[in-house]
Amino acid sequence: MECQDYGLSRTLERENLNLNPLQRGGLLSAKAREALYEFGDGYSVCDYCAGRLDEVAKPSINGFLEDLAKFINVDAVRTVHGAREGKFAVMHAMCEKGDTVLVDGNAHYTTHLAVERNHLNMIEVPNNGAPEFEITPEKYRETLENAIDQNKNVKLALLTHVDGDYGNLTDAKQIGKICKDAGIPVALNCAYSMGRLPIDAKAMNMDFVVGSGHKSMAASGPIGVLGMKEEWADLLLQRSSRHEKKEIEMLGCTSRGAPIATLMASLPHVIERVSKWDVEVEKTRNFVSQMEEIDGVVQVGMRPTEHDLVRFETPKFHEIADKHPRRGFFLYEELKKRKIVGIKRGQTQWFKCSTYGLSQKQVDYIARSFQEIAKTAI
Ligand SMILES: *Cc1c(COP(=O)(O)O)cnc(C)c1O
Repeated sequence: MECQDYGLSRTLERENLNLNPLQRGGLLSAKAREALYEFGDGYSVCDYCAGRLDEVAKPSINGFLEDLAKFINVDAVRTVHGAREGKFAVMHAMCEKGDTVLVDGNAHYTTHLAVERNHLNMIEVPNNGAPEFEITPEKYRETLENAIDQNKNVKLALLTHVDGDYGNLTDAKQIGKICKDAGIPVALNCAYSMGRLPIDAKAMNMDFVVGSGHKSMAASGPIGVLGMKEEWADLLLQRSSRHEKKEIEMLGCTSRGAPIATLMASLPHVIERVSKWDVEVEKTRNFVSQMEEIDGVVQVGMRPTEHDLVRFETPKFHEIADKHPRRGFFLYEELKKRKIVGIKRGQTQWFKCSTYGLSQKQVDYIARSFQEIAKTAI
């Protein structure tokens, strides 16, 4: 049979400035791009495997996992296929069907799906509403204590370190302490933080941390990171009785080629960039202030922002869309003319964006472009 043309060409990232927050932290380092080429073949990291992926010495997956564990300060670490698989594995190992997990109200949809797939109940800690949508430690404590008082079988708590709606950075250390004091194991979802900002799982009182290689660690993915404290390693990494080398929760082996090779190749680059996180935050704050020079534009979520993902309400662009012949598409199209992409087509009332990794000059150009569009689009 003859296949259709799948349109597998992509120049978007090469030819434009991409503001899609989902994609900014997953851009490959130069070393990772080489590794992608060398390890593109299936099972490419398995040449010298003796049955345990995490113990492969060539390429040095064992050495890499040691470094990774140090980088995020956990006792044991494994790669999984994404942050979602990490959360699923933790829930699956820690809970029985019908148990309850406590989850923050800004959690990613994949947290909800992991709960559903595990047949668990969920209690949500509400955020404090507009305009900050903050998950406060006080509310977290109150919701947790109520759930425990009501004998809800709370077996696990989850906290989103930085959420994908507002880019709010939660007080993980304090909330971790609240869970610890209540005797409830807690997992931190670092999909938007691990690889961007420093993560110290122990300092934050976390039993588990999960990260996303393709979201924030300059890896092709799909790949995630699951780190844990020693006390949970036996449970999470329990071996099969029939295949004694294989870890059940990992289904034996997880990432087996380019995804892990690119993550490994990028680790030095990621360690280096994390040390410059404050520069990224400053750049974002400057971007926010330039954007807010536009009539009515305001950054929602916690202020000043502590993360590169920012959400703007943009009534001005919505007004223009009302009268513009291209309606809601005008913003996307005007940006595209200026080689700026990553804002959803048709969206003008609000949008999320990120300038992570862009130069100050590029950020200035982007902000100026928005300002210009606001003035001249009609
Ligand atoms: C992107 C994201 C995820 C999903 O990450 P995967 O690695 O693709 O599973 C989970 N949680 C949050 C908060 C995210 O932003």
